[in-house]
Amino acid sequence: MANEIDLNIVKNIISLLEICTDSFAFVYDISSDMFFISERTLAHYDLPCSQFSAAVGKIITLIYEDERVRCAADIESIISNKKESIRSSYHIRNRYGEYIPAEVRMRRISASWGEIVAGSVNPGEKHAFFEDDSLASERDAQFDFDTARMTEGSLSGFAVQIEVDNFISINEHAGFEAGNEILSILAQACKKQCINGTKVYLLSDRKFLLMNFTGGNADEIRRSYSGIKQSIREAEYESGYKRMFTVSAGGIAFINDTSSLTEMLAKLMFTVATAKNNRKDTLCLFNAREYALYLRALEIESAIRDSIKNKFEGFTLVFQPIVNAKEVQKNAGGSLSKIVVGAESLLRWKNDRFGTVGAGEIIPILERSGLIVPVGRWILMKAFAQCAAWNTLFPDLYVSVNISFVQILQSNLVSEVQIALERTRVNPKNIVLEITESGNIDDEEIQSMLSELSALGVKIDIDDFGTGFSNLRYLQDIRANTLKLDYTFIQKALSGDMKDLKIIEFIVDMAHALGMTVCMEGIESYGSVEKLLPFAPDKFQGYLFSRPVDARTFAKENLHR
Ligand code: C2E
Ligand code: MG
Ligand code: MG
Repeated sequence: MANEIDLNIVKNIISLLEICTDSFAFVYDISSDMFFISERTLAHYDLPCSQFSAAVGKIITLIYEDERVRCAADIESIISNKKESIRSSYHIRNRYGEYIPAEVRMRRISASWGEIVAGSVNPGEKHAFFEDDSLASERDAQFDFDTARMTEGSLSGFAVQIEVDNFISINEHAGFEAGNEILSILAQACKKQCINGTKVYLLSDRKFLLMNFTGGNADEIRRSYSGIKQSIREAEYESGYKRMFTVSAGGIAFINDTSSLTEMLAKLMFTVATAKNNRKDTLCLFNAREYALYLRALEIESAIRDSIKNKFEGFTLVFQPIVNAKEVQKNAGGSLSKIVVGAESLLRWKNDRFGTVGAGEIIPILERSGLIVPVGRWILMKAFAQCAAWNTLFPDLYVSVNISFVQILQSNLVSEVQIALERTRVNPKNIVLEITESGNIDDEEIQSMLSELSALGVKIDIDDFGTGFSNLRYLQDIRANTLKLDYTFIQKALSGDMKDLKIIEFIVDMAHALGMTVCMEGIESYGSVEKLLPFAPDKFQGYLFSRPVDARTFAKENLHR
């Protein structure tokens, strides 16, 4: 009952606050993941109701795609009490589908009934939106689509969605008038494609849609897109190159299709996003396999959110042995003798619906959504605790933990490692953090963070070496413990010519000269061991010695006194 009274007070405070300001106020209850807003805010933003649960996931969908990871990290740092307050700007989608820049302030407050975050959203200047009465609207698109479906039963034809690249940044830097001029050029260019039954629509978020239900195929899509680009180039020339811009497009050709317009628009949105992620200024055609993977990733992400809320239910760590390369031997009976020096912890996630999902699929989803931050914290704690437990009997065994670059950029890794060291009481000398060569490893800020980590007593390994393209000088600066040569790199060298093996020889010599050891990954056969031993690696890892297994099996198979 007390809780209900408190919630009413919260709602009243929000409404009262909004009387004195143009901002939208909100309150977020951390423990229940409930979000409270006023009716006024509800009328402005596409949120389910004035009080809703599973709040963070719903809020994030309103943020402009490129800013979602940053926003998720901001929210996470408040929730996890790493920051007390945050002031940040994002583009937030309103009910008209427009992304309006807004300043968001959040502050964590201890209330009588629990921990809450109170905040405000202050949208920036309203501007004149692009309008063109001669263009059909999204509503017209729905009408035309429904009419064609009713007449034909199913539809055959094509649809193309076109967007201006970097539109938000054009609006911000050149002003909304420039943005509107560009949209007007694009509108004219699209209209020129309205032949043979093609019609153009202006969607509510200022994207253009071409639809044709008279048949057609991918070639027509390509022709329309290059026609539009041609018209844009001509307009640029005529205006003396005053306004220059590029457009990305997604196209879908369909035969006897029975999807709804909403489904088709969702597919087109995905396809344009692929074009933009590729290199922009390009056309992508719908790919059903990629779309199915994308939908699966979204569903997995949502199930992961539930797992995290459910005390990380379904997440486990498996361990793969790392062996001393110099001690690997084949015995007379054909069995292998090895000395295990370490264990690499690898993440797995199990779910009733999706079964066991491997790191290759789960890590990119965690990184894209920012969820790698809380999950990464869980991994540190679990892996360190396991290491501490093993070290009571095997004090020299080390456990290595993979660290994602997103984790480095979005969380305070040094303090998280420090907390996990303190809580698990593991000896830091038994912990190795594996950092991939990708990302800005040679960036000064990251270098200083790596030094801070080293100062805690943990070691740093460079993972996946041979797949990145960094400046090699960083190796000297970060004093890495081990270079791990990537599986694909080793396999290529083993199946390639002498030149590839020469590169391996050079890398091992360089690592040794810099005081580092070398671990070769992906060793699947004893033949590989024999081929690689002349290059003097220090450690091996691979299926030949063991697949990654759960902690109990790892101990049973590898830890003997
Ligand atoms: P990685 O760190 O280079 O891990 C080695 C990967 O190679 C593991 O795949 C392992 O199962 C696989 N592997 C080991 N030996 C062999 C072999 O002989 N042949 C072949 N074909 N593969 C072998 P896994 O577990 O699927 O992990 C893939 C990647 O996902 C890892 O590459 C790592 O970058 C990332 N990852 C895994 N666990 C975590 C984690 O806890 N946190 C983070 N941030 N990333 C993780
Ligand atoms: Mg690794
Ligand atoms: Mg690796």
